Amino acid sequence: GTEKIAYKRVMLKISGEALMGDTSFGLHPPTVQRVAREVQSVHDMGVEICMVIGGGNIFRGLQGSAQGMERTTADYMGMLATVMNALAMQSALEELGIHTRVISAITMNEVAEPYIRRRAVRHLEKKRVCIFAAGTGNPYFTTDTAATLRASEMNCEAIFKGTKVDGVYDKDPAKHDDAVRYDNVSYDEVLQKHLGVMDASAIALARDNDLPIIVFSLDEPGGFKGILAGEGTYTIVK
Ligand code: UDP
Repeated sequence: GTEKIAYKRVMLKISGEALMGDTSFGLHPPTVQRVAREVQSVHDMGVEICMVIGGGNIFRGLQGSAQGMERTTADYMGMLATVMNALAMQSALEELGIHTRVISAITMNEVAEPYIRRRAVRHLEKKRVCIFAAGTGNPYFTTDTAATLRASEMNCEAIFKGTKVDGVYDKDPAKHDDAVRYDNVSYDEVLQKHLGVMDASAIALARDNDLPIIVFSLDEPGGFKGILAGEGTYTIVK
C-alpha cells in the first residue's frame, strides 16, 4: 500500500518469538531493545501506542496440553509468560525515557496495574505506552484476540501486526517463490482462505468492530514508523 496513514492511536501486536532474536527460547535483550527503538520512533511522532506481546517464546498452552498438562492450567502459564515479556519491553522502553505502564488482565498488583479501562485511556492521553499483559485473562484465547479486544476498547484506529514478512501472501513466501503479497484483503477472504494473519476469533472480532489490521515486517528497520509516514510495503486487512 502507498496511501498515507494518519493514525493517532494504534495497537502494536507482536508475538513472543519476535523478542527471541536468533535464539530458540526466551528473551534476547538486544532484540527487545531494537523493538523498543522502533516503538520509540513512532512515539516520537506523537502517536499513542498500545502494545500486546505474545508468550510463545516462553510457553504456549496448546504445547503444554499436548504433553499432558491440563489445558486451562497450561493457558494460564501462557498468560503469565506474556507478563514477563511485557516487563522486559517496559524496561527497554523506560531505558529510552518513555513512560510505560504494564496493565495485566490477571491481577498481580506488585508487578503490573490491574486493567481499568478509563485509567488505561488516561495513560494513553498522557502519551504513556500501555502494554496489555496476560492476554484476555481467559484460557482458550490467544494474544491476537487480546490485542483486538484491547484495541477495540481503547478506540485504536488500527492494529499493527508485526511479523517476519512484509504482509499477507497467498501462500507461504518462505516456501514458494511465486507467492504473491496482497496490498488489501478483506476479513472474509482471510477467513475463507485461512491466510493465517491471526486466529479466526481475532479476525472476526476485528471485522465486527471495523478495525483494520496492518501486517508488516518488524525485521525491517524503521518499518513501523515508515508505514505511519506513508511508506513501505504491508498488507491492510479491512
Ligand atoms: N493465552 C490465553 N488466553 C489469552 C491469551 C493467551 O490462554 O487471552 C495463553 C495461551 O496458552 C497461549 C499463550 O498464552 O498459547 C501465549 O500466547 P500466544 O500463543 O498468543 O503468544 P504468541 O504466539 O503471540 O507469542
